Amino acid sequence: MTIFRAFGRGAFGVLSASALALSGTARAMDAGKVVPPVDEALMREVIKTLSADELAGRGPASAEEAATLDVIVARFMAAGLEPGNKGQDGQKSWFQDVPTVSMRGSGFSPLSITGGGKMLAFAHGKDFVAGSYRVVPETVVKDAELVFVGYGVNAPELGWNDYAGVDMKGKVAVILVNDPDFAMESEDGPFKGRRMTYYGRWTYKFEEAARQGAVGAILVHDTFPAAYGWNVVESSWSGDQHFVATPNDAADQTAFNSWIQKAAAQSMFKAAGKDLAAMTAAAGQKGFKPVPLGLKASLSFKSAITRSTSRNVVGMQPGTEAPDEYVLYSAHWDHLGRCKPDASGDDICNGAVDNGTGMAALVALAEMNKAAGPARRTQVYLAWTLEESGLLGSEYYARNPVFPLAQTVGGVNIDALYPGGVARDVAVTGGNKSELSALLAKVAGELQLKTGPEDSSEKGYYYRSDHFSLAKRGVPMFYVKRGTDLADGGVAAGKALAEDYVVNRYHQPSDEYSDNWDMRGIVQEVDLYYRLGRPLADGADWPNWNAGDEFRAIRDQSRAGVK
Ligand SMILES: [Zn+2]
Repeated sequence: MTIFRAFGRGAFGVLSASALALSGTARAMDAGKVVPPVDEALMREVIKTLSADELAGRGPASAEEAATLDVIVARFMAAGLEPGNKGQDGQKSWFQDVPTVSMRGSGFSPLSITGGGKMLAFAHGKDFVAGSYRVVPETVVKDAELVFVGYGVNAPELGWNDYAGVDMKGKVAVILVNDPDFAMESEDGPFKGRRMTYYGRWTYKFEEAARQGAVGAILVHDTFPAAYGWNVVESSWSGDQHFVATPNDAADQTAFNSWIQKAAAQSMFKAAGKDLAAMTAAAGQKGFKPVPLGLKASLSFKSAITRSTSRNVVGMQPGTEAPDEYVLYSAHWDHLGRCKPDASGDDICNGAVDNGTGMAALVALAEMNKAAGPARRTQVYLAWTLEESGLLGSEYYARNPVFPLAQTVGGVNIDALYPGGVARDVAVTGGNKSELSALLAKVAGELQLKTGPEDSSEKGYYYRSDHFSLAKRGVPMFYVKRGTDLADGGVAAGKALAEDYVVNRYHQPSDEYSDNWDMRGIVQEVDLYYRLGRPLADGADWPNWNAGDEFRAIRDQSRAGVK
């Protein structure tokens, strides 16, 4: 799901290309521990096999899923991993079943807004999109009161609650996208200014509205704060919507979630005798109070429901002294399967970069840790399914962890590595959120790499790959990649490399492997991941989120029970 981007510029010194070739001295880690070599040939084989046409783009729950999982398990076994899960029969198993439900909306009525003697009828697709998280064949909401809740944020650690004093039961929340200080240039605001926090993500808005008991939620779209145009909203909300199946079929969610175009929202606020721009300004102020709009909303539609099961793969290398403490390495194995054919009629989205490279990195790391011998803690290798459908495999794992999250130290998530040369910098998606940054700074120092936050922090990329399913439940996770400042060609070359992938290969049949691939940059990244994961596995530290970080409270709570 990640669209990649050019990286930021870090603060540390510049490095000579030769040193970047990871000379002998650079292969030593702390205490003289040697870093095993990254097996490039093995990685090429894994990428080639997983992105072959035979696996038809690795669609989850497709006919090719079983063959794909056979490849992964065979590679895990060759790397000496043990099955990490237990099956229904109590026997060891490589797999965790992930039950999913998909819903496709149809027969949408207009979104009708009445009150103040006015009647507005918004058209589906053009003015609004909607869907139900509740697994029900029909949704009907009639005359539900509208309440404007600003950015719809409830952040106790920041003393901010846009729902303070209102009972949302049976009402519809009207919510702004992004977080209250998104328009700032710097990252100094209460919600980190221009950097999007999870409170700014559309998924959070709907989750919080449900927690508040709202019957519906209407998110006001605006291109800048959303970081994408209405076309993206419209296309991603048409077709099947995928969810992790839950025992209560999501009965605790709102009856409908929706987006509305800014122009339509402006006429809605006007009908309430209010001005959207003025209300938006008020919502950005601390102490904002929810505003009943004196209007009622009605909407109905049908949902076609499909249920299926896909699988996460779970392998492990048991620890020695602390086997019940866990360090994770993860990557998603799924991709789009068959997709929109290109001019030559090729309709297989092979997913060599996304995420054949991540899977190859997982296997290479398992081999490196096998070569280094067992660590103090248990190292776990997770191959997620259903990432492309909304991080569902990692979401299901995080809700049903095979290894307790409170006993999970942290880990590294790997998604879509680019073939190309080595870099002089490392980009930290999400910026400095946790004490893991200290380990990264130390390792980067050893390798004389500069570190820096990712560019376009306002787009919230930290919340758009699998590590986030664990992070939002408190587990500190690395999501780092080599930067754009390439040894050969500098930032210009790095940005061109990223641009070429996004424009010409991202989620297209052309994302295919070739023996001509320059693997040096990917080898550099895997070496970096080893140097981040292994010290965590050999150590006794419990890196936490920084004070004030949005996930700190959750972690403290989950760890409180195990001290
Ligand atoms: Zn991906």
